[in-house]
Amino acid sequence: MLGLMQNWPLTVDRILDHAKTWHDDREVVSRSVEGPIVRTTYAQLHERAKRISNALLALGVRPGDRVATLAWNTGRHMEAWYGIMGIGAVCHTLNPRLFADQLCYIINHAEDRIIFVDLSFVPTLKEHRAQMPTVQQFVVMTDREHMAGVDLPGALCFEDLVEQHAPDATWGGFDENTACGLCYTSGTTGNPKGVLYSHRSNFLHTLVTLQTDVMGLSGRDVILPVVPMFHANAWGIAFSAPAVGAKLVMPGPKMDGASIHELLESEGVTFSAAVPTVWQMLLQHLRATNGKLTTLKRVVIGGSAVPEAIMRGFRDEYGVDVTHAWGMTETSPLGTQATPTHKIAALPYEEQLKFRLKQGRAPAGVELKLTDDEGARLPHDGTTFGRLKVRGPFIVREYFKGEGGDILDPEGFFDTGDVATIDEHGFMQITDRAKDVIKSGGEWISSIEIENIAVGHPKAELAAVIGVAHPKWDERPLLLVKLKPGETATREEFLAYLEGKIAKWWTPDDVVFVDEIPLGATGKIDKKVIRQRYQDYVLPGVKAAE
Ligand code: AMP
Repeated sequence: MLGLMQNWPLTVDRILDHAKTWHDDREVVSRSVEGPIVRTTYAQLHERAKRISNALLALGVRPGDRVATLAWNTGRHMEAWYGIMGIGAVCHTLNPRLFADQLCYIINHAEDRIIFVDLSFVPTLKEHRAQMPTVQQFVVMTDREHMAGVDLPGALCFEDLVEQHAPDATWGGFDENTACGLCYTSGTTGNPKGVLYSHRSNFLHTLVTLQTDVMGLSGRDVILPVVPMFHANAWGIAFSAPAVGAKLVMPGPKMDGASIHELLESEGVTFSAAVPTVWQMLLQHLRATNGKLTTLKRVVIGGSAVPEAIMRGFRDEYGVDVTHAWGMTETSPLGTQATPTHKIAALPYEEQLKFRLKQGRAPAGVELKLTDDEGARLPHDGTTFGRLKVRGPFIVREYFKGEGGDILDPEGFFDTGDVATIDEHGFMQITDRAKDVIKSGGEWISSIEIENIAVGHPKAELAAVIGVAHPKWDERPLLLVKLKPGETATREEFLAYLEGKIAKWWTPDDVVFVDEIPLGATGKIDKKVIRQRYQDYVLPGVKAAE
């Protein structure tokens, strides 16, 4: 027997319809690419997005067509995004930090027809125009005045489209399983692969992220997503903020400590989300300028592991609560969140920390399991580590165009490529990416754990650990440290700092001080590049290969 409730397709245009109707005057504030702060409301954003939909229809865009954006977080980007999705086209968010050849590969693979582009990225598109044969039109996300300086033959101006088209486009009316967004993985192994979100998966992800124990957002919040819309949908915030009518503050192209701090204070931001490197920069800025955080209450940090020093810094010096989260492009992206359970919340903060620093627990709608290489389940004892697998209604089933083949196990779980433990309280902890884990004498060493302790050294700005070939042990850890400006340090100082904090056999065989630790396209430490740089590194006590 089937239920007798209404069939109300879960399409994301309904989220912005809701915001327009019930939170019409709530603001969306952007630091524009042109420079000034621009203010709009959900009602205006909705109207302008509808005009963009009509412009796209007039350009011949049909349901299922891929329309890309190459843009920072701004109100205009939101307008393009909802304008595309509302008519059943697929919004393909391009990551501008990718190298041009990867960008072209993705554009071609997705067969993008139109690209909405910020002024910042016009030169890249112009230079590589010939390598994107499927693209019929560029829309520069600016006004007529700035269009005058744009050198991209035939490109249209966003504000002209808004002006020329009516706000009466019809949204929705299609199956909730219709594709809605496309985001490629960062491609740390092989070519990037496309994750094709559906309206339903994004809608459900939105509802789950709004849970109190996940992001706990409210209409009273002022949210600044530093995490870009091109990095797994700004962790869903471009949907969840309008869903609850929170004020949105968009940082545009400026994500340095000073610019973020200025917006946090001037707009009264209460909640923010970003990768650890962004928070590290903000902390440094605050400490250097004696800055204050007068309204910020909570931040979610994910994308890479949160070092203890960041969590403590925000809490002890600024009274800001940090929640650690884990996810990936393939999980829409939120998979787990380290919110204390009632038992853990009852512990003193010092004892809670151990759990808060883990990647956390799964909300309803996400199923996790740990397995060995053969697929047998492993115990949740907090020490046994294995492959982390995940299943749920907003987890990838298949990559776009079937790349990578069948990616689910017989039970329908997706292998995340992460190695993890799960403890008796259900807190998952990432040990490493499977390819980053250091295999020493048949045992595994977690590069993440050593990095996070090393970066707590008062002189360290950033730390990275990789495995380097060793004739006896297969691999041994090498610690790279970027010191804070003006600091000097010795290898022995860092090894002494690690002593007692990690197992003795995990102690890095060497420490190298570097001017730069390379970051990848989503702001994470790029281990692939580091491994390439140090592939011939000879550890102390090891004879160089002839
Ligand atoms: P992406 O799809 O670019 O967001 O990358 C996803 C990957 O980032 C995951 O599979 C993890 O390896 C890593 N990651 C994400 N969040 C965390 C976290 N909180 N701690 C450690 N690694 C993380």
